[in-house]
Amino acid sequence: MNLFDEVESNIETKSFRYNPWHGCFKVSVGCKNCFIYTIDSMHQKDSKNIYKTKNFYLPIIKNRSGNYKIPSNSFVWMCFSSDFLLKEADLWRNEVWEMIAKRKDVEFAFFTKRIERLESCLPDDWGDGYKNVIVGLSVENQVLADKRLPIFINLPIKRRWIIAAPLLEALKLEKYLQRNKIEAVGVGGERALNARICDYSWVLDIRGQCERAGVGFYFHQTGSRFKKDNKIYKIKNYLQQSQAKKAGIDIEI
Ligand code: SF4
Repeated sequence: MNLFDEVESNIETKSFRYNPWHGCFKVSVGCKNCFIYTIDSMHQKDSKNIYKTKNFYLPIIKNRSGNYKIPSNSFVWMCFSSDFLLKEADLWRNEVWEMIAKRKDVEFAFFTKRIERLESCLPDDWGDGYKNVIVGLSVENQVLADKRLPIFINLPIKRRWIIAAPLLEALKLEKYLQRNKIEAVGVGGERALNARICDYSWVLDIRGQCERAGVGFYFHQTGSRFKKDNKIYKIKNYLQQSQAKKAGIDIEI
């Protein structure tokens, strides 16, 4: 499965979204147009109000037949409505780790802009990482890449992805792209009403770096304002993923 596929099911793998808690605090320039804030404001909700969702126990909930609602071999995208390493969720996270440890038959992935908190958030039996957990590090510009990536590649994690989104400028990632450390890099533009531009030349440049390093690469969405050949295109939300896919530049490893 493409690492950045939307929720969908196919014969081999089903993918799910699992949001154990909702709400977040903005921590960096990439958060400026956070879609959680945008959606919450449409419903007069305060995104800084952090709460456990009613789906908190989703990984271990069973249906009437006694089977898990999330079947074996599924892929679970976690924390799309927050950051998994949010301090305000410290009291709740251990229960989620326990569910993840129990569901070794399922892969879980989360993205974070708070990688400096990971070590203090790990369960006691983490060792050098759970095999079924992918940690994705979000980076949006060079300063933040150079701040977060040295921490990331030295943490005990079995499977690491880099998520360059929203991509706000050209990035030099080469020195961090060690094949045994980073599985894949995903790139995406910003999806928002006042989105910042994503330049296709930056996307291709990162792709080249991944190709040389033998690391997977996925262009998962164009963003709302996409620059190509000196022209800026406004791309509707529902077309951003299909347009990125159409570029045909992914590298599966
Ligand atoms: S860390 Fe993520 S979820 Fe939290 S405010 Fe920033 S973009 Fe939104």
